[in-house]
Amino acid sequence: MNIAVLNETSSGEARVALMPDSIQKLVAAKASVSVESGAGLGAARTDDDFTNAGAAIVKDPKALLADADVLVCVSRPADEVFQSMKKGAVVLGFLRPLDEPARLVPALENGLTTFSMELVPRITRAQAMDALSSMATVAGYKAALMGADHIPRMFPLLMTAAGTVPPARVLVLGAGVAGLQAIATARRLGAVVEAYDVRAAAGEQVRSLGAKFLEVDLGGIQTEDKGGYAVELSEEALKRGRDLIAEQAKSADVIITTAQVPGRRAPVLMDETAVNGMKRGSVVIDLAGATGGNVTLSKADEIVDRNGVTIMAPTNLPATVPVHASQLYSRNVTAFLSLLIKEGDLHIDMNDDVVGPSCVTHEGKWMNQRVAAAMGIA
Ligand code: NAD
Repeated sequence: MNIAVLNETSSGEARVALMPDSIQKLVAAKASVSVESGAGLGAARTDDDFTNAGAAIVKDPKALLADADVLVCVSRPADEVFQSMKKGAVVLGFLRPLDEPARLVPALENGLTTFSMELVPRITRAQAMDALSSMATVAGYKAALMGADHIPRMFPLLMTAAGTVPPARVLVLGAGVAGLQAIATARRLGAVVEAYDVRAAAGEQVRSLGAKFLEVDLGGIQTEDKGGYAVELSEEALKRGRDLIAEQAKSADVIITTAQVPGRRAPVLMDETAVNGMKRGSVVIDLAGATGGNVTLSKADEIVDRNGVTIMAPTNLPATVPVHASQLYSRNVTAFLSLLIKEGDLHIDMNDDVVGPSCVTHEGKWMNQRVAAAMGIA
């Protein structure tokens, strides 16, 4: 079984899908791994590092693909990549099947079996494969650093001979994986942190990190589903949250928003009025930019200035921490691959409770109901 790794080509992408330590494990499991020359440079890994781990380095991506039984990638590859692979081959990566299902038609038409890391179920058995959590952790960390870097003041409380410097105030909206990591990082830097989430369960986690949890009376409505994820709220409930946020925003130096509802547009948590109420020099970092944003004024991957308030919506922060983001991702995909490798051969068991639900296309069919529905197929 040949596993291939290409250079990631999307703009700003510095991660690599497999790092040398994972390749050692795959080679020990009797798979062979080929890596396109230079694929690891963004993550500070040279061709020699990959060779020493047991991989073959290939200069020509076409030759690499023609030979591949499995292509492991970070972002969804270009149409031509799907078209260059042999029928029945496997592609594994962040394929955005729910956001852009039509972009997977070339894989479907070429008879490829595609597995999407976004669809890996968040069950205990699949925790080691939870790439969404890994990347959210990196993004939350980096968002707090960006906030600290962009405000014209310091984060910690300092008592100096020249007087006292008060700590920065950070407000985190959405206390899931990314939000909690942003809180922890901002706290380590010495900021005073407050956080809001619609899931009551998030309150305990927020408090355990030394931050204040903002409570809103949402009228006792259900805010989470059986799986522990937030559900789409009524306009009235959203408005109550927005009113509280607008009030708290007035004293915040940094606001980091991470609120998402799986499979839906991100909820709007801050409108223009809320931003207009903020202090000059304060910063908003909207981590929901890829799904429409939590802040009406934010523009994906652009920096917006509104009366001295900076609004940023970076859509790929994990790529700005490429070594650790690649290391975590590589371990996640390797754990998934271990379900597909038996005695060095490819063995796909669609009845497996992780493999089956993660599959998008197989033998020319859409395998996931939500993706098929998004494609308009009953
Ligand atoms: P996510 O990225 O889907 O959402 C981020 C946060 O936004 C969530 O905490 C959500 O409650 C919040 N949110 C949604 N709408 C909101 C609104 N209108 N106002 C304020 N906040 C809003 O979530 P995530 O970070 O991927 O994970 C969320 C939950 O899943 C957490 O409980 C987490 O512990 C759990 N989880 C479980 C596993 C596992 O069991 N393997 C793995 C990862 C996460």
